Amino acid sequence: MKNIDVSQLTAQFPLVRSLIALEPLTWFNPKATTLTVGLPHVGLDQRDVADTSARLARFAPYLCEAFPETRITQGILESEIATIPAMQATLNERYGVEVSGRLLLKKDSHLPISGSIKARGGIYEVLTHAEQLAIKAGLLRTEDDYRKLFTDEFRQFFGQYSIAVGSTGNLGMSIGIMSAKLGFTVTVHMSADAREWKKRKLREHGVIVVEYAEDYGVAVEQGRKEAERDPNCFFIDDENSRTLFLGYSVAGERLKKQFDEMGIEVDAEHPLFVYLPCGVGGGPGGVAFGLKLAFGDNVHCFFAEPTHSPCMLLGVHTGLHDQISVQDLGIDNLTAADGLAVGRASGFVGRAMERLLDGFFTLTDQEMYDLLGLLAKEEQIRLEPSALAGMPGPWRVTADRAWQLAQGMDETVMARATHLVWATGGGMVPTAEMEKYLATAKI
Ligand SMILES: *Cc1c(COP(=O)(O)O)cnc(C)c1O
Repeated sequence: MKNIDVSQLTAQFPLVRSLIALEPLTWFNPKATTLTVGLPHVGLDQRDVADTSARLARFAPYLCEAFPETRITQGILESEIATIPAMQATLNERYGVEVSGRLLLKKDSHLPISGSIKARGGIYEVLTHAEQLAIKAGLLRTEDDYRKLFTDEFRQFFGQYSIAVGSTGNLGMSIGIMSAKLGFTVTVHMSADAREWKKRKLREHGVIVVEYAEDYGVAVEQGRKEAERDPNCFFIDDENSRTLFLGYSVAGERLKKQFDEMGIEVDAEHPLFVYLPCGVGGGPGGVAFGLKLAFGDNVHCFFAEPTHSPCMLLGVHTGLHDQISVQDLGIDNLTAADGLAVGRASGFVGRAMERLLDGFFTLTDQEMYDLLGLLAKEEQIRLEPSALAGMPGPWRVTADRAWQLAQGMDETVMARATHLVWATGGGMVPTAEMEKYLATAKI
């Protein structure tokens, strides 16, 4: 890692001063370009997404058996889209800006198995690994009915192998529950900020939970080291995994299908804006990648981060990516937003996606709590704090007329826009915990 000279950095990038001052800010990305220009930098394409989709389809019958709650969607883990008009009216007033288009909420918060966006990437990575092992051992062919994986024979087979992951909570939940169900020995290395109830739930599923007094970066490093000592152990690398990234990416084509069914148009005259909470970057990066493939230049993706953990904004803005952490600037990386307390962004995601993202913004923890309270009050939808990070996005974008005009979007076009806030978690938060969240909202 480079030594960071903070005064030189702030001289070159004045916005870094505002990051250090923990000021909520919005940054429109001047590196944003067309899909045609940006896509080759990703190193993955439509064929990879199609391959991912096909693998998830092979596993769907297995998931129906192993997790009966997935039967209503035939073993495909996909979330609903909600309209939130009362929230829109309340926030028009709160922010003093009128969002004229349509406001929607993507409820990954209520995905089955783990109740967060991690049910996309985390579960997909475990399934991919299991499939590879079973095929290599001659026990499985891709034409088979994958329900056979839900047998003692297969559980014993997978029992010879282990899986490890470092997590602030939700990734551990997805990977832990999925791996344990297949029969793997699974260890989740959890950072200090991980919630007690998540650790408890994992242990109930037979997952080994190792706790650290330090943050996510340390938990990941320790987990990696331990896994390296065991040749039968597969370490899931949240920071650099292409597989995880692809697991998220199928959200794009599925959203397109949902929009078709809802009669929602997306084209140059009807732009789509999507607001994604960002931690290390794999989740929002993979979803944004899938969205760009599905909707091309008519979708505009924005990443949202806590003021105390703006790692992706910092990495992309300075071009230093994973060569800089928020701690290098003296920012403490302390936030109540599970999954977003990440000090150093994924270098893979930043470099792959920096030309395909329209912007970034930050918000305070209190703002997330207030929005959490407002959404519960106005729409009776309960989320965890991090899942609210994207919510101010439509107002941040609407407030910047100059940026819209530079994109060729006038008021008429903006009035036809769809704004989709990606709600990334909260569906499994215990009631007592939720009451505490609600009590923290000052509304
Ligand atoms: C993990 C997570 C995110 C962000 O995903 P990354 O891949 O870490 O960027 C957002 N919201 C919630 C609730 C999460 O658990």
